[in-house]
Amino acid sequence: MAQWFALKAENPDFLLFFRMGDFYELFFDDAITAAAALDIALTARGSHGGEPISMCGVPVSAAQAYLSRLIRRGFRVAIAEQTATPPSKLPGKKATQKGPLPRAVVRLVTPGTLTEDELLEPGRSNLLMALAAHSARRGTVEWGAAWIDISTGLFETARCADAELGHLLARLDPAEILAPPDRDLGDFDLRRAPGEQPPSAHTARTRLAEAFGVASLDAFGTFSDAEAAAGLMALDYVRKSQAGSLPRLAHPVPQEDSHTLGLDPATRASLDLLRARDGSSEHTLFSAVNRTATAPGARLLASWIAAPLTLPDRISARQACWDWLKGDTPRVELLRQTLRGVPDIDRALGRLSLGRGQPRDLAALRDGVTAAHRIAEELAIIAPDTRPDLISKTLKHLGECDTLLAELDRALADELPARLDDGGVIATGYDGELDAYRTLRDDSRRVIATLQNDYAQRFGVASLKIRHHAQLGYVIEVPTASGAKLRANEDLSFRQGTTTAARFSTEELSELDSRIAEAAERASVRERQIFGLLVNQALEDEHLPPLARALAFIDVMQSCASLAVGETWCRATVDDSEAFTLTACRHPVVEAALGSGVRFTANGCSLAPDHRVMLLTGPNMAGKSTFLRQNALAVILALAGLPVPAKSAHIGIVDKLFSRVGAADDLARGRSTFMVEMTETAAILNQAGPRSLVVVDEIGRGTSTLDGLSIAWAVLEAMHSTLRCRTIFATHFHELAELSGSLPRLSPHTMAVRDWKGQVVFLHEVIPGSARKSWGVHVAKLAGVPMPVVDRASRLLKELEKDHATGPAPLPLFDDPPSGVSEEEPEPAPAADFTRYEEILDTIRDCDPDSLSPREALAALYDLRKLT
Ligand code: ADP
Repeated sequence: MAQWFALKAENPDFLLFFRMGDFYELFFDDAITAAAALDIALTARGSHGGEPISMCGVPVSAAQAYLSRLIRRGFRVAIAEQTATPPSKLPGKKATQKGPLPRAVVRLVTPGTLTEDELLEPGRSNLLMALAAHSARRGTVEWGAAWIDISTGLFETARCADAELGHLLARLDPAEILAPPDRDLGDFDLRRAPGEQPPSAHTARTRLAEAFGVASLDAFGTFSDAEAAAGLMALDYVRKSQAGSLPRLAHPVPQEDSHTLGLDPATRASLDLLRARDGSSEHTLFSAVNRTATAPGARLLASWIAAPLTLPDRISARQACWDWLKGDTPRVELLRQTLRGVPDIDRALGRLSLGRGQPRDLAALRDGVTAAHRIAEELAIIAPDTRPDLISKTLKHLGECDTLLAELDRALADELPARLDDGGVIATGYDGELDAYRTLRDDSRRVIATLQNDYAQRFGVASLKIRHHAQLGYVIEVPTASGAKLRANEDLSFRQGTTTAARFSTEELSELDSRIAEAAERASVRERQIFGLLVNQALEDEHLPPLARALAFIDVMQSCASLAVGETWCRATVDDSEAFTLTACRHPVVEAALGSGVRFTANGCSLAPDHRVMLLTGPNMAGKSTFLRQNALAVILALAGLPVPAKSAHIGIVDKLFSRVGAADDLARGRSTFMVEMTETAAILNQAGPRSLVVVDEIGRGTSTLDGLSIAWAVLEAMHSTLRCRTIFATHFHELAELSGSLPRLSPHTMAVRDWKGQVVFLHEVIPGSARKSWGVHVAKLAGVPMPVVDRASRLLKELEKDHATGPAPLPLFDDPPSGVSEEEPEPAPAADFTRYEEILDTIRDCDPDSLSPREALAALYDLRKLT
């Protein structure tokens, strides 16, 4: 327990997995927490201060599964191993050591520092992020951010203004964050790691330069002080989590002005780019366009969707590649087949660099490089005359790593064991020394096999066997009945007797036994040595990471080409103009969800400079939000260089995209829906400019009608005349369409609906004009609101419309509730009811509960009921 207390004190924020033989045990509160989280039995062992010590445990062999459950639920785990081999497990040694084995924490398992495939999502990056503040002039704060993916070796940094920190977090979606405790991280607060103070800039620069073997950090670009500090924080956290050893990391790369489309967190949430609002990855833009065949390909595609570009040249370079591939459909299919089996080189490298690699990781490198070479050959055949530059560059990277491949091909055995400890990783014929030890071991085994016959004859026991025994080594085993006879023999020494068998050893056997053990031990040491050399060779091969990136790139390109092949997805023209013209565009996620049989109605959208503000009216369920989102998604896909689900698209670069569609419920944070709506509207009005695209739905819905109309009106005017951004503004205030008289660039549109025998039919078509009717009552009926309520609502609507036509009338506030099927038209709401309401309130106010007898109280209740 003293050991446990010491280790726990060093890692107070972690659940301590304390190795005891074949189990990791947890004690005290750790045990209570883990038993509940894992749904395993909680027991007790010994006592501490008179109290029993709570305990639970998981078998080492199944630890991965338990760890992954704990990590997913936000816990952090420290793993304490026995750092010496228990004497009973050492061959031929007697148990002489007294007291507990030494133990040390060898690894901290945290959400941002995972390397095991079992704990990682294959198609997603897993980032650890550190933030350090830098007080700029005039009291404003600027942040330095650094993020590391230790499973792939990525290391990048950036600086950003305080207001943009949310954007950066939403873009990168880090699994774990080191940040000053006083900075609210919003939704990301739950991902905080127990924090440390940022180091001084000087220390950070020196130590980062040291870690990457350069004289000055400037070698890698320009870093702000805060960026350097964040970089070192992230690096130190990684080092601490791996108990001092540092994984292979690329040197830090500062993301200067990254030339990416501005997407704030609310926009990302409203568009379900990589994750849907329920956290799942189904029904997202990513899932709708993803045709990649490998995990690194999926990660690359996700990173493009998360950060579309604003440089037309870079966008068209990407487009050119898939457009070119698309020309040869059969080869794209072949390429996809080849890619399908390609292993995750990045993550294999990540594990190998942490000394956590297994034979299959080296095999992954071998198979990955082999596949890269084959893919290079396949690509080389496709239309070389029109081959885009980016493909030529990629081809070059795909063809590298010959030496490494040759070495791995020669070195690795055909059938690889799951673990290095099992032996047999290195092929026969690769290393003379290893072969010699193995021969020695195997020859001795063969000698033993022949000895069995010899001994059986010599000692006159036909059923004599030679067996290998865990503690005794090789022994002669005979049935107990024959045992007595052999005990007298001087050449044999009796070792053990059981009810059925007697075991003996001979000098000859013992000698062979230790020769085998020694040869096996030497073979295993040598095999590890060779494995280590191969790992080093792989880690030092600077062509390997670019080869892995090239594979991922080709995977994304074939994914795009397969999408575009059917001609329902197009290559957008993206340039520096102010154009915005989509023809026959679709919402890829809604379209996919409609399933077969139902056709998605494609809609164009044009926001040319002279009518850059589209005002969209139309009933609920007519397809407004779908239309709004599909235009925003088209911009993201086009700027990411990916195919767009439209017949054609011409988009002038958008600098920031704002999308506010669908109620973002923020009630959990104590802000009313209306407050959230206004905060988000404010964010748009303060940030959007003439190059931005804004799509908004139902501004002003969370308050009273006149209030809401006035706000929507003023916001629309500001977008039209002050911000001059390209805008699609959906609203249920039909009145706003009349503003087109005074706002020249406003173009009113509406969702087409057909009135069929008093029933509404939604055509999902966007047409010029404005809605005349809301059809809300019909939608209520479609949604299954009980018929009496629907009937009552439509009668009230008629009344109100009549009143509206003849001038304002007092709203009927109180009335009989609908009472089942009523044949008679109820009276229009009588104003007298309001008086009765006042009367009831007065009666309640007048009564003094403390002075009433039970009987009087009952009487008062009856009186009240009469009034209702
Ligand atoms: P609104 O925002 O006007 O209330 P939505 O955009 O949420 O309407 O659309 C409601 C439903 O109508 C969608 O879930 C989808 O099933 C269908 N829908 C919307 N747009 C289309 C379309 N263009 N083609 C076919 N079905 C559509």
